[in-house]
Amino acid sequence: MKTILVLGGGIGGIRTARELSKKIGNEDGINLAKILVFEKQQKSLFAPSLTWMMVGKRESEQIQDDLTNIQLGGIEVVFGEVEAVDPENITVTSGGKTYNGDFMVVSLGADQTDIYDLSKLGHNYYTVDGASSFYNDLKDFKGGKIAIVVSSLPYKSPVAPYEAAMLIDNYLRDHGLREKTELSLYTPEAEPMTFAGQEISERVHQLMKSKEIYYHPGYKLNNTEDGRLTFSAPDNQETQVEFDLLAYTPKHVCPAVIRDAGMAGETGWIQVNHQTLQTRFENVYAIGDITTIPLSGNESLPKAGVFAQYQANTVAHNITRQMHGKKPDKAFTAQGKYILDQGNGKATKVRGNFYSSDIDIKDTSAINHWVKILQEKTWFAKHF
Ligand SMILES: Cc1cc2nc3c(=O)[nH]c(=O)nc-3n(C[C@H](O)[C@H](O)[C@H](O)COP(=O)(O)OP(=O)(O)OC[C@H]3O[C@@H](n4cnc5c(N)ncnc54)[C@H](O)[C@@H]3O)c2cc1C
Repeated sequence: MKTILVLGGGIGGIRTARELSKKIGNEDGINLAKILVFEKQQKSLFAPSLTWMMVGKRESEQIQDDLTNIQLGGIEVVFGEVEAVDPENITVTSGGKTYNGDFMVVSLGADQTDIYDLSKLGHNYYTVDGASSFYNDLKDFKGGKIAIVVSSLPYKSPVAPYEAAMLIDNYLRDHGLREKTELSLYTPEAEPMTFAGQEISERVHQLMKSKEIYYHPGYKLNNTEDGRLTFSAPDNQETQVEFDLLAYTPKHVCPAVIRDAGMAGETGWIQVNHQTLQTRFENVYAIGDITTIPLSGNESLPKAGVFAQYQANTVAHNITRQMHGKKPDKAFTAQGKYILDQGNGKATKVRGNFYSSDIDIKDTSAINHWVKILQEKTWFAKHF
């Protein structure tokens, strides 16, 4: 019986395990392959819902589920930290035990680190605790300055800060606080979503303007001395910013265990074939946030759950074929959609092929908002 080692029980890892189980023909009682998922957390998080949590629209138990529930059809979860990875020999060490596999799929995501002591000043809404503590402070907020800060590049979900800003804007309007609040977004990016092309950048920029969200692109955070944020602005001037409430995106890094295994390339992330997701090691694949896939110009494919899921489908399909002695024949095309919710029952959809830049933006509508809710519900219904 073949063994597939799936590293990470997040969006990419769970989808890979589920697809493999289905395609290989595993059922309850019939296991044609063993699928081992390595995960350090008991609960798996659906991170796209964190922005709703920031404004009180979700509780933590609504956006997480227990990973023991995925243990069906040959899937087994090995709980604990992945301590070492050997991609040459396809082995993983966890809890002091080494597991051998025939194939490996790495989906360990991006690790988050604190820079400039931001955690002492504000809320990291890229975590359940941070999104929840932000909402606790928002409930007591009586007006003043709210800052949303992207502390470093690259970061996952390059749409999340814009969505967070719009959801907060809507919350403030609903609570009669908008006139009393200056809402600002600071980011080192030159424009929003540059990977999707100029038209989409401009439309998202316009959205910020229409909601009176002060948008500061090209602002690179340098320090946080005396409780103030110091940025170098695009004109190279130092700008100090005061705030009453802060939500930030942390610095993202490739997990140390993967760097120590020699799997991170020059970019600091795992480089893969952009169609097959194969790494430079035989029968070892990597998907999701831990990878970097260059697009045209200086852009990279955004780190997004939608792509992690499509990549998981591709890899599961191709591994199944390899197990049956057939040639892998499925390619990841970077086709996907991204929805920016606005909190007022409406959302904007960006959709297309991110490899070919054939991407369009749909007008804001209630349908898009419901599609986003459906994506969340389907995730839990289908995988747990
Ligand atoms: C606020 C926010 C909003 C977002 N909104 C969207 C959106 O609207 N649309 C969208 O498509 N995407 C969105 N995303 C991005 C999406 O959540 C990620 O792209 C997706 O989760 C990537 O999947 P992954 O499997 O690569 O990583 P993850 O889902 O992060 O999974 C990685 C897993 O590996 C585990 N792990 C890491 N290291 C170890 C170790 N050493 N040992 C054991 N386990 C380990 C982690 O605990 C984690 O469970 C959002 C993210 C955030 C934070």
